[in-house]
Amino acid sequence: MTTSTTPSRPDRIHGIRYDYDARAKEYLTTCNLCGAAIWTVLTHVDRYGYRASTTACSACSLVVLNPRMTSASYDEFYRHVYRPLVSAYHGRLIDATTVQAEQHLYAMDMADMLAPFMARVRGGRFLDVGGSTGIVAALLRSRFDLKATVLDPAPAEIAEADALDIETITGLAEEWEPAGRRFEFVGMFQTIDHLLDVSATLHKLREIIEPEGIFVVDIVDFRAAYLRQGSVEAAVKIDHPYSLTEDTMEAYLARVGFEPVHRSYSADHLHVAFVCRPCDPRPDARPAPSTVREFFREIRQVQNSMRHHPGAP
Ligand SMILES: [Zn+2]
Repeated sequence: MTTSTTPSRPDRIHGIRYDYDARAKEYLTTCNLCGAAIWTVLTHVDRYGYRASTTACSACSLVVLNPRMTSASYDEFYRHVYRPLVSAYHGRLIDATTVQAEQHLYAMDMADMLAPFMARVRGGRFLDVGGSTGIVAALLRSRFDLKATVLDPAPAEIAEADALDIETITGLAEEWEPAGRRFEFVGMFQTIDHLLDVSATLHKLREIIEPEGIFVVDIVDFRAAYLRQGSVEAAVKIDHPYSLTEDTMEAYLARVGFEPVHRSYSADHLHVAFVCRPCDPRPDARPAPSTVREFFREIRQVQNSMRHHPGAP
């Protein structure tokens, strides 16, 4: 019998006292990637235990929370709940200060990966979308002689970026008005899964990037997440309205006119980064039907493996 007084993960999450059921939500009717309106519900609960339904577009396999919180609910979530919730999940403090050591290591890896492609944007303007505390922007700024701007919705994180003498804009990428500004280098690091409108945001970024510019984005690969955990529920969370795969991300990039010139599986085997240059858009791009079928088969295989139903008949 254990006498440990360390609270369990469910107890720690319960201790946040966040009433997800009571938050304002909206249903998505059409797919943000392909525009279809036929959905397949995959899960009914997320990794925290909240009653959040994850749904895949039956036509293209884009995976989203549906229903999901409104923009106002997410704004409140990021101001007051997100970091405490992630801290409770991991059982250690994660806030705008502690996150910086992790972001520094991430930035060094990202700078090494980007180095072969940065000659043509050296000295240029750099927008970091969802740039958090500015640690990544500051390191890339010094490594590649860039003029950095951080756009982020969290005031506590923007305050850290201000202290690094980086230009900052507090707000959501979806609501930001570029007002004619253009950039040679645009990065969206560990951010795209948090967006509320991936299509509109990527179109906006495609418009503000110079023709010879570089765009870099990384995803938490949803397939990697559920294959690793052996559970689809463990791979979804209310802080990720989108659960992207290599196939759905590549379709988004093709649609808005970004061509990947380099891809990188991160050392954690979970993230996938895409270094892109602008190209002509392919507005009808989507994952191949055989890929979509294989995705749904794999989901069912993971959900019904003996690991989760060892005593099942
Ligand atoms: Zn779709």
